[in-house]
Amino acid sequence: MSVIYDRVALIGLGLIASSMFWAMKRGGLAGEVTGYARSEATRATARRIGLCDRVCESAAEAVEGADLVVLAVPVGVMGAVAVDIAAALKPGATVTDVGSVKRDVIESVGPHLPPEVHFVPGHPLAGTEHSGPESGFAELFDNRWCLLVPPPGSDPAAIARLKALWEGLGSNVEEMDPDHHDLVLAVTSHAPHLIAYTMVGVADDLRRVTDTEVIKYSAAGFRDFTRIAASDPTMWRDVFLTNRDATLEILGRFTEELFALQRAIRTGDGAHLHEYFTRTRAIRRGIIEAGQDTDAPDFGRGQKSS
Ligand code: NAP
Repeated sequence: MSVIYDRVALIGLGLIASSMFWAMKRGGLAGEVTGYARSEATRATARRIGLCDRVCESAAEAVEGADLVVLAVPVGVMGAVAVDIAAALKPGATVTDVGSVKRDVIESVGPHLPPEVHFVPGHPLAGTEHSGPESGFAELFDNRWCLLVPPPGSDPAAIARLKALWEGLGSNVEEMDPDHHDLVLAVTSHAPHLIAYTMVGVADDLRRVTDTEVIKYSAAGFRDFTRIAASDPTMWRDVFLTNRDATLEILGRFTEELFALQRAIRTGDGAHLHEYFTRTRAIRRGIIEAGQDTDAPDFGRGQKSS
């Protein structure tokens, strides 16, 4: 593959940025990659493990001369980072982000960027429950989707170039409207995370089942919840605060369905339960057929954790 951007700046050096860095190096997609993270500790770790060609002492320094700037910080601080870098951006540069919520990022970042800069928000649908500069790996985006959410009137060449980068990182790329993105993600990611957090919280509260029993007897169901519920608290707090409406809409529907299932259990309506579980099983099959998960027992965890 050939170089797509001569200079890339990564702002925030956690799971997503570090995975992008290793995947850019794997594919030879970028010339020099600079990076910046808020804490000295993260910058020191990045230097130690060779994450970024140059780790800078400020976000503004990192974006100087960059052709592509990637905002890879929690959604709640995207706007503040945009303010920090705005004056240092190179005219003609593209600014993108990897935030899990899109409407809020567009509204908090967009107004701060100079008009001669292209803003093409994005969201790679790939992640793990791990965070920080040492959690990234080059394969994270392979065969995953990356959604680009360019505002109306965006420069087609800037979109095409960013699309080429994500394809080089291993992703399939699609464009989507920001509000639709936020609703889709509320269904596929945000509400499920909240449910997992709740279930793990319930197990913790329920003193009739001891902690040892929960750990000892946690077969796949509960273990999967605990894996999801181990995700970064800052990132997820920001996701719920910034995708409030869509998440609340989906949680409202969820509660209704839960009541219907509760009623079926209480009234002994086996037909309802069986029909419901048959429908959900088909959804799982669809995900596997689309290559978005493995059918291996234990979700293939024996081979690789992600
Ligand atoms: P992460 O591993 O927790 O890393 C976040 C990084 O942002 C850290 O390097 C942190 O620096 C830095 N940071 C935080 N506040 C900052 C600030 N004010 N200025 C500069 N840097 C700051 O997070 P991540 O999982 O890579 O997530 C990054 C973004 O990707 C989030 O918007 C998230 O919604 C999105 N996303 C995450 C996933 C996922 O599964 N994790 C998937 C898709 C998209 P310090 O280390 O110094 O605190």
